[in-house]
Amino acid sequence: MKPLGISSDRCLIGGSWVAPQSGKVLDLINPSDGTVLCEIARGAEADIDAAVAAAEDALQGSWGKATAAERGRVLAHIGALVLENKDTLAELEAQDVGKPLKQASADVLALARYMEFYAGAADKLHGQTIPYLDGYTVYTLREPHGVTGHIIPWNYPMQIIGRSVGAALATGNACVLKPAEEACLTALAFAELANRAGLPPGAMNVVPGLGAEAGAALTAHPGVHHVSFTGSVGVGKLIQRAAADNIVPVTLELGGKSPQVVFEDADLEAALPFLVNAGIQNAGQTCSASSRILVQQNRYAEVVEAMANRYAKLRAGPALADLDVGPLVSNRQKDIVEGFLQKGADLEIAAQGQVIGDAPTGGAYVAPTLFAGVTPDHVLAQDEIFGPVQVVIPFADEDDAVAIANGTDFGLVASCWTQDGARQLRMAKRLRAGQVFLNNYGAGGGVELPFGGTGLSGHGREKGFEALYGFTTLKTVAAFHG
Ligand code: ADP
Repeated sequence: MKPLGISSDRCLIGGSWVAPQSGKVLDLINPSDGTVLCEIARGAEADIDAAVAAAEDALQGSWGKATAAERGRVLAHIGALVLENKDTLAELEAQDVGKPLKQASADVLALARYMEFYAGAADKLHGQTIPYLDGYTVYTLREPHGVTGHIIPWNYPMQIIGRSVGAALATGNACVLKPAEEACLTALAFAELANRAGLPPGAMNVVPGLGAEAGAALTAHPGVHHVSFTGSVGVGKLIQRAAADNIVPVTLELGGKSPQVVFEDADLEAALPFLVNAGIQNAGQTCSASSRILVQQNRYAEVVEAMANRYAKLRAGPALADLDVGPLVSNRQKDIVEGFLQKGADLEIAAQGQVIGDAPTGGAYVAPTLFAGVTPDHVLAQDEIFGPVQVVIPFADEDDAVAIANGTDFGLVASCWTQDGARQLRMAKRLRAGQVFLNNYGAGGGVELPFGGTGLSGHGREKGFEALYGFTTLKTVAAFHG
């Protein structure tokens, strides 16, 4: 497969397309119909070694010497090339991940926005001067870590590349990216466009492969100075442990069980589209999906009915049919989600959407499902499902709402729907989450908005200007001049 000039069965290392040293490949499956889309490289330790060495060379060469303004200019150029190729990128992502074309198109625009944002930010990260003892001048320098490792999942490849690689390149790091084995075509396309935009060879390397091989090799590599990971809690723990051996910082974004809290005075008409869309977007395979809807008791029946009416109209089908919901990324993921649906056999199904009749039988389709009458401690209200499944939970008052909202091991995103201004401010303080939304959910994606979690949702922040601090290390310079 060679869209945009990529070689899908190769790694991109040091600016060149190179076959994995083992010669091995993996099948990349199209989740809309279960067929093989193409072969991808099964990169492993030797390829990671080569990529880290290429990144180090870039740091010793022109990339390490580039000024902040020059780095920003390259990022701006990458963003422009992303926009020029937006239709091809959207189709690649839709086919690879199984996401409806309109979602894939939104993801391309987000990738371009990340490039634009970090292009503008590159030369605006300043140190400080610190008043000190007589005879001293003291200042701080923000310096890149060096080689940064980026291990990304399959659910939003372009958006996650944008937020993590964008901030890393803006601050002068050189990147080695390990995309997910389920979806890696836009990672390869991005690196190709970055090279065309003038990014020096080796500043951006991509090694596709299995997590336990290429991913583990990248995490454990002594030449990697920072690891950012987005994915499951289990793998996040492995990554933090491996990074401990090299004493390198990690940024972990590990998903959530994010609630929307609907108080009795909420504007339900405004809330409804957010209540449902935040659960079914990308077939629920979103770290910040809102999988729990908490509703004050006296409006509970009304909200369940209104959500159920929307669910009944949802249709799932192939990515390119561009319906409300696409397939899940794989039949493995479908099995996981169906396992959760079985665990909800004791619950009331308030409504289900439909998989369209002519959806290919090999596709990984699951009908969007809304459960009502759910208790806060039920496994469906506690575990991250990563599928188009939401639960609606009643609550009595504000204290009860806070206890339920904060009553999982996660803390990524939360939202609160109320017209009471004082309650909005109280809830923003009381909700345990890295992002809180008041009378909205997600704020349109928010490239500018720092993002990350607490508890099992991880630590560190990506997105926005804040990410630049995470991708740099601080040096204090104290000069004595008498
Ligand atoms: P999921 O279960 O949703 O696929 P994972 O956390 O397994 O999520 O995968 C996210 C990313 O982490 C993928 O790129 C995957 O290849 C990678 N990965 C999986 N296992 C490991 C590991 N042991 N070390 C490093 N990376 C891994």
